[in-house]
Amino acid sequence: MDVRVRYAPSPTGLQHIGGVRTALFNYFFAKSQGGKFILRVEDTDRERYTEESLQDLYDTLDWLNVKWDEGPVVGGDYGPYIQSERFELYKKYAEKLVEDGKAYYCYCSSERLEKVRQEQIAAKSDYQGYDRHCANLTEEERAEYEKAGIKPVIRLRVPREGKTTFHDVLMGDITRKNKDISPDPILLKSDGFPTYHLANVIDDHMMGITHVMRAQEWIPTGPLHIILYEAFGWEPPIYCHLPMVMGKDGQKLSKRHGSTSVRDFRAKGYLPEAILNYVTLVGWSLDGSTEFFTKEELEKCFKMENIHKAPGVFDYKKLEWFNGQYIRATENDRLAELCMPYLQEAGFISADPTEEEKALVLNLMGPVKERMKVLSDCVPLTAFLFKDEPVTDPAVYIAKGSDIAKTAAALEKGTAILLEGLKNGEEESVIEEKLAELSKELEIKVNGVFQPIRVAITNSTVSLPLFDSIRLLGNETTAARLERAIKVLKENN
Ligand code: GLU
Ligand code: ZN
Repeated sequence: MDVRVRYAPSPTGLQHIGGVRTALFNYFFAKSQGGKFILRVEDTDRERYTEESLQDLYDTLDWLNVKWDEGPVVGGDYGPYIQSERFELYKKYAEKLVEDGKAYYCYCSSERLEKVRQEQIAAKSDYQGYDRHCANLTEEERAEYEKAGIKPVIRLRVPREGKTTFHDVLMGDITRKNKDISPDPILLKSDGFPTYHLANVIDDHMMGITHVMRAQEWIPTGPLHIILYEAFGWEPPIYCHLPMVMGKDGQKLSKRHGSTSVRDFRAKGYLPEAILNYVTLVGWSLDGSTEFFTKEELEKCFKMENIHKAPGVFDYKKLEWFNGQYIRATENDRLAELCMPYLQEAGFISADPTEEEKALVLNLMGPVKERMKVLSDCVPLTAFLFKDEPVTDPAVYIAKGSDIAKTAAALEKGTAILLEGLKNGEEESVIEEKLAELSKELEIKVNGVFQPIRVAITNSTVSLPLFDSIRLLGNETTAARLERAIKVLKENN
């Protein structure tokens, strides 16, 4: 079988991490099967459609380097791939269903429908939904409505008897009594716009889609789609509904948990390869243990059977850790390019960087990459080099388990040891050793000595390794900042 799968988002908002997961599963499945990955834009909801979200869709897939074989921009034999350019087709097929008696025109006003709804609620009726008022209109009745200029919708005739089963690769057979399926849903609206069901089914069929992989929240519409396929006399595709993406609390991932749009992750400085790798692990695994995959590996090893049934947990901390790993594995020159915009945004580096600035940024990458979890971390980590905002709150200098008096002593004596060592060109390990000795003398932990020194030099508790900071700052500035901090502590002691 020549596999053809699609990602069919509705451009009504920024690409959500869950949507991207759907795109990646489809993409990797297609690649591993030697099949085609198709992008289809389901923009029939013109009220919620935004240009920005369509652009965001393209940008996101480009950023992840996920290329679609057919779809907007690139074209293909089954286009157009944007639903709003296919309205003629949907109309034609909806009318064909009417001709075949599988669907019918409905002229009911929204007022009438609302009244019916209210009555059903009042009567606590089992039967909820459209009352099929127009299901069997005579030609004369129709002509009346038409003459009055009422524009009809087209409704699918859902059988009331029997049941419908659809098969899902992961969930098995899902069967529903037809009488429980929403009665006679609209396929074509009175303004000629298709509903999701109609356009989705027609396109999947017309585009030769073999497997539908989409979020589990679409399972309830499955039986209805099967009925629609039957009405058309078409073979339905193979369905594989993907496990939900949850937060750690077991609730569906949402803004409550943190950022959910890929754009936000990108802005914070997540690398595309880290997002791609981590998101693919939400609800899928190769062997239950391998965590690191390149895109090329996933293109080979992704199997549908390995998709989990149970919801996948999106763990922000884990992703952050992943990103840190990917950052450390990135070459310094690429990393320098990636960090540059953040440093420019912070005003540390000019908009049009000089060669010296570029060299400096490159030089920073060695120490910085060890401490970064996201690219934007490069700003707080290097701020001490570009601006000097001394810490005047003595509490910040004091390590856990120490106090102001010991901290003042540690800083003063530590400074003497450090500056002496630097002057004499002592090895870092030797100086460290001496500072550790000092902590013993003062009966505090090692950090009781190092913390005030680091805060003095970098004006911050988040910083680069000590000797990297000194090297970058220069011995003279280092000495001046240490002396300044000694004063702060003395004044407050
Ligand atoms: N346009 C639908 C969505 O936004 C597509 C659902 C499907 O894949 O069938 O999720
Ligand atoms: Zn009606």
